[in-house]
Amino acid sequence: MSASLTLTRADLIRSANFIAGLWSEGTSTRLDVTNPATGAVITSVPDSGAVEARAALDAAHAAFATWRKVPAKQRAAIIKRWNDLVLAHQDDLGALISMEQGKPLAEGKGEVTYAASYIEWFGEEATRMNGEVIPAPVSGRRMLALKEPVGVVAAITPWNFPAAMIARKIAPALAAGCTVVCKPAEDTPLTSLALVQLAHEAGVPAGVLNIVTASRQNTPAVVDVWLDDGRVRKITFTGSTPVGKHLARRSADTLKKLSLELGGNAPFIVFDDADLDAAVDGLMAAKFRNGGQTCVCPNRVFVHRSVFDAFAAKLAGKVAALKVGPASDPASQIGPMINDRAVEKIERHVQDAVAKGAKVLTGGQRLTHLGPNYYAPTVLGGADARMACACEETFGPVAPLTVFDDEAEVIAQANDTPFGLAGYFYSQNVRRIWRVADALETGIVGINEGALAAEAAPFGGVKESGYGREGSTHGLDDYLHTKYVCQGQLD
Ligand code: NAD
Repeated sequence: MSASLTLTRADLIRSANFIAGLWSEGTSTRLDVTNPATGAVITSVPDSGAVEARAALDAAHAAFATWRKVPAKQRAAIIKRWNDLVLAHQDDLGALISMEQGKPLAEGKGEVTYAASYIEWFGEEATRMNGEVIPAPVSGRRMLALKEPVGVVAAITPWNFPAAMIARKIAPALAAGCTVVCKPAEDTPLTSLALVQLAHEAGVPAGVLNIVTASRQNTPAVVDVWLDDGRVRKITFTGSTPVGKHLARRSADTLKKLSLELGGNAPFIVFDDADLDAAVDGLMAAKFRNGGQTCVCPNRVFVHRSVFDAFAAKLAGKVAALKVGPASDPASQIGPMINDRAVEKIERHVQDAVAKGAKVLTGGQRLTHLGPNYYAPTVLGGADARMACACEETFGPVAPLTVFDDEAEVIAQANDTPFGLAGYFYSQNVRRIWRVADALETGIVGINEGALAAEAAPFGGVKESGYGREGSTHGLDDYLHTKYVCQGQLD
């Protein structure tokens, strides 16, 4: 491993569960955590099961009784200290993200700032969970709407943003006065364990935040305990739509509150009146960040016939110039994909598209000389709706370009998917801008902008991309109940 991916605080690499304020090895079965750039084992973590899940839940349930009563200002101070510690350890956390997830080091460090922005925001919001005093319709009554924490929250996260996904779930939960049990993604548990260590150092009390690691195979044994137990009052999940549907079904018996941030199939539309250079830059940012492994990644790129050739040539030139390599090389702009399954899916999508008539404008193959998990950044021309890359999320560095002729046709195509997370378009016509923004069936719309996420903005989808929002005041509301209190006989 390169020197640039070593940590100054080696104790931030934890290899145990954190339950009731203590690091505990739990089960003797272990799960190796590997560097996707090399396949080298970084360390191992517990491959936990129902016993550890239950212990974590018992701790979170016990701690809820006291944490919910800690004054909001004190909770905010603890969260603020957590934020300060995360930023103070940005280099170590960034290296850890790059080590286990593979993204370039600059992106790893950037993710730490991004994660911290959520922690800071929700720490501040903890002191502003104001209720309402409602004018009573009759005399002698006081009517109030009070905000209360929902209770124990189970957080289940994906591997693509190991710090940010944890931060934007756990920070609002703690701000609201909830306690947490968390199961991080099996490919990237180490960043979340390091964040939990820093939360502990910041003064988050024992039992308030508990984390249990498990392999993909053992994950149901852990999560099913939480799904079936009525003490868990909310599930917050980011990941694939099939797993999200499973969580919704299985939690129905105890009617938990759910926030589901699921898969997408984002359209990116370049109209004939677009600023083409801005559109190319926007697509580069939105599509190739994290090697195309983001849920808001454009998956289908629609380009108006009159600008198609110019756009495709500019884009292919920029994509061909991207430097692919391990995070340990500071020049790398695209790292390895997370694992074999991911590369196989990308390969299958490109082969399917080519078999159905698409042309490879650049890329189009594995980069085996770099390692097993590398795929060349790719642009395909002549893509259409029959291809797998138009129907499923590729989750990799592949931009399939489809030509279109008119606005109504392209909106129909953009919306012709069960998913609705993000949508992007480039146009300089103000009437078209609002027409298209209104017509897109997505939870997030980028107009002449490729980088959309921000802690103060609501992030989430519609249709089979899920429900609930993360970030912003909406992201805090998802961890709160509204209690109506009415006092009579005041005359
Ligand atoms: P995944 O659904 O397979 O895994 C996500 C998490 O769910 C992991 O922690 C995994 O262990 C857990 N999990 C898997 N099977 C489970 C089960 N039966 N019961 C309970 N938990 C289970 O998703 P992935 O492949 O790791 O991540 C990629 C997907 O996540 C993509 O579809 C992507 O769009 C989506 N995603 C969405 C967002 C968003 O904000 N909407 C963000 C990132 C990723």
